[in-house]
Parts: sequence; C-alpha cells; structure tokens
Amino acid sequence: MSEQQQQHHVEDLYADASHWHVNAGDETIHAKRIGGRFRNYRWYGSSLWILFFITPFFRWNEQQAILFDIPHRQFHLWALTIWPQDVWMLSLILILLAITLFAVTAIAGRVWCGYFCFQSVWTDWFTWLEDKIEGNPIQRRRLDAAAWSMRKVKLKTYKHSLWLVISLLTAFSFTAYFADVYALWQSYISLEAPLIAWVTLGTIVLCTYVFAGFMREQVCFWLCPYARIQSVMIDKDTELPTYDVARGEPRGKLRAQDSASHGDCIDCRLCVGVCPTGVDIREGLSEGCITCGLCIDACDSIMDKVNRPRGLIRYASQKEMQGIDLPPLFKRPRVITYAIVLCLSLGGIIYGLSHIPPVELSVIHERQPLFIQMSDGSILNKYTIKAVNKTPHTLEFQLRITGLDAVKIKLPDGDSIKLEAKGTIPFHVYLRAKPDQLKQARTKIVFILESNNTNDKIKLKKKSVFIGPGR
Ligand code: SF4
Ligand code: SF4
Repeated sequence: MSEQQQQHHVEDLYADASHWHVNAGDETIHAKRIGGRFRNYRWYGSSLWILFFITPFFRWNEQQAILFDIPHRQFHLWALTIWPQDVWMLSLILILLAITLFAVTAIAGRVWCGYFCFQSVWTDWFTWLEDKIEGNPIQRRRLDAAAWSMRKVKLKTYKHSLWLVISLLTAFSFTAYFADVYALWQSYISLEAPLIAWVTLGTIVLCTYVFAGFMREQVCFWLCPYARIQSVMIDKDTELPTYDVARGEPRGKLRAQDSASHGDCIDCRLCVGVCPTGVDIREGLSEGCITCGLCIDACDSIMDKVNRPRGLIRYASQKEMQGIDLPPLFKRPRVITYAIVLCLSLGGIIYGLSHIPPVELSVIHERQPLFIQMSDGSILNKYTIKAVNKTPHTLEFQLRITGLDAVKIKLPDGDSIKLEAKGTIPFHVYLRAKPDQLKQARTKIVFILESNNTNDKIKLKKKSVFIGPGR
C-alpha cells in the first residue's frame, strides 16, 4: 500500500460509519481475560470502588462522615454540612465533575468508561467470577449450549448466588449513604427498616444483578447518555486505542507473513476476543469502544510472540496516525474552553466553601393582614423569621430593629432567641409602633440579630418593611 493509499484508508476508517460493528444485544459476549498493562490499570481503577463500600463506616464528630440526611435536609461531608441554602454549591460540584469528564474525554476518550465507570467495573467483577466458575469463553459457550445437567445447575447456581451477594452488598452500601449505617444494618436484620429502605435495597439489587450480570455492554449502548454524546467530545486530536492500518494491512495469517506484501497483523483476532464490548478495533473508531485498552494488551502479546515491535494497536490520535504532529494541550481550543470552565467552577466551590455563613436568616412580612390597628391606636406588624444555626453549638441572639424609632419588639421566648445546634427554627416576631412615628405607609427597617457570645460574635442583617395606614 502506498503512503497516500494508507492515509486515505485511515481517513475512510474514521469517516465511514458503515465499518462500525456494535453488538446491539444479538449475542452474549464472552471475552477472553489476559494479563497486561491495561488490564492492571483496569484493576487499579476498579479498586477505587472499594471506597464506595467502606466510606459509610467512617465517622466524624460522632456521626457518619458522609451522609445525605434527607429527612433533615442536610448533607454531611466530614466537618462540612451543606444545607438546602447552599445547594448552589452542589450544582457547581456537578458542573465541575461534568466538565472534568468532558475534558478527559476530549484528551483521551472514554477513560471514565474503560477504567472507572460503575457499569464497566461491576461487569468486570461479574465476568471475572463467571470466568473462575464456568471457565474460559469456549467452555462458557459450551456450557450455555449444553442441556441442563447437575453440573450445569451447580455451576449456574454458584455463579448467580455470588452475583446476588455482590448486588446485595452494593445495594446496602448505597442505602447506607442516606441513613446511619449501623442503625440501618440493625433495622434490616430486625426487619424493622422503613418501606422506602426496602424498596431502595430491592431496586438496587435488581439493577446491579441485571445490568452487570446480563445486560453488560448493552447498558452503555442503550441506556448511558454519556456514551451517546461522547462522539461530539472527541476530535482528531483525541488519543484513543487505534489500530495502525499502515503497519498492519494487508493482514494475513502467520503462514503468509513471509511475503513482504503483508502487514504485521496476523489476523489472529485476539484483539476482538478480549474486547468486553465485542468490537473489532481494526475496523476503526467504534461507538461500542470504551477505550479500555485490553486489545492493546492482546495485540502486544501477539507481537512479542511473532517478534514484531509492540504498538500495532496503541493509544494514538487520528492526526498521529496520518503523520500530523499533535498540537500541545494549551493550543487546543476545546481543552482551553474546558480548562476555563473548570477553573471558574473550582473557584466558585472554593469561594462557597470558605464563605458558608454559620447562621442564615430570612424574614417574611405577614400579608394577611398587612397590619393591625390596636385599641390604643398603635400599629402592629407580624413577621415570620426563619433562622438556621449551622454550627455544632447552641447560640443565643438579641434582636433589634433599625429604621424605626421606639418600636416595641415581642419575641416568642422573653428577650432573646435561642438556636439549637444544627437546627432550624421558624418563629413569629411582633413589632408595634405609634402612628405618629410613621412618616409613610411603608417604612424601611432592618432586622439585626446579634449573638451573645463574646469570642466569635455573629451579626446578621435582613431588610424588611413596617407597614401602616399612611398619612
Ligand atoms: S476495542 Fe479495545 S479499547 Fe475498545 S473496548 Fe474493545 S478492547 Fe477496549
Ligand atoms: S491481535 Fe493484533 S495481530 Fe491479532 S488480529 Fe488483532 S491486530 Fe491483528
């Protein structure tokens, strides 16, 4: 193949979607498991998920370190408690995660899918067990095709029981992020858990068992939105597992390799055999490829055996394959855009975390009625105050009003307002003023809440109005 022909061939493979073969559920993929660099990376990536199982057991200040306390509408993250008022920060965190995913995809393809995604990680664990119990892909296909026998029943029961144990552990760990883990264990064991806990547990068990055990790569293909949009995130600079067409083609069996007209691919199909999604990487970029790199391990092992250099399949961009130099990261518009959005969201999160107020205050003026004229002629206004104490200490506050002289304040409990630690209290405050103090129908006032503690004084201000009949 001439250099020009090879270049056209590479372009065709990338551009022509008719080359793609994606298993859309018509066959069960039994991938061969072999060792190698990328197989190790997959294990390292999936081992991070151990944190998912053990994190609910971490404690901080005598409570669960990470807890989504939905009944109390609080999100505990070690020393930090995020309240509904700070939920904008969670949105920024989600934007940060999404942009990180986009940036990584633009640079190195579906790294998340290949090494970290719960779907591919759980599928990998399930198929590892399947391989240990039922044997290699040939033995598994034979077992599936064989008539039911005691041996088949025993092997299938063993495999499905272990899958269910993993599904149960996954479901329990998930629910433990929403309730105290020890209390939850106890409530499940004593069968006293609330209905919602049972429903969540059952749903997650079922989803894990079906998605990782049966649907496998079909979840990526049919259900995952990220797999759908990833094609718009990658470009000619993105490094992906790529078959070196110029070097490999024309492919041919090893016997024919003596011929100088053959490329390095001996058409052993091991790269296809190890692919967990059943893709033939030699056919070009495929929607089914999760960039796990397992075909690189497979092909490298073959190249070692036939004394050819490794890297017939390797991480490379389309430009590299066409002999065009890759621009540095800081010169790629896509990477620059993602980096700017990343920095902005990170800055917002850091600012938000360092400016979470210890106490939040909201004041709502009563609308029905706007004011009451008392028998002595004075005007009464009613306000609903909601105060949130985010600190772990009980705080006591004094309330005063500015903007209206000689106004009388009536609090629910004597002279001060007591806020329990990590608590929210709504209460009513009545303000009473003489009509001759009011120069107009609406007088602007400011509620000032000041804590009694001398060390770390907290002062909160909230604007409102005092409404009277007008002059
Ligand atoms: S083609 Fe290669 S990189 Fe892509 S999913 Fe299959 S084994 Fe993984
Ligand atoms: S593993 Fe390598 S040599 Fe074998 S078919 Fe795939 S690309 Fe060709």
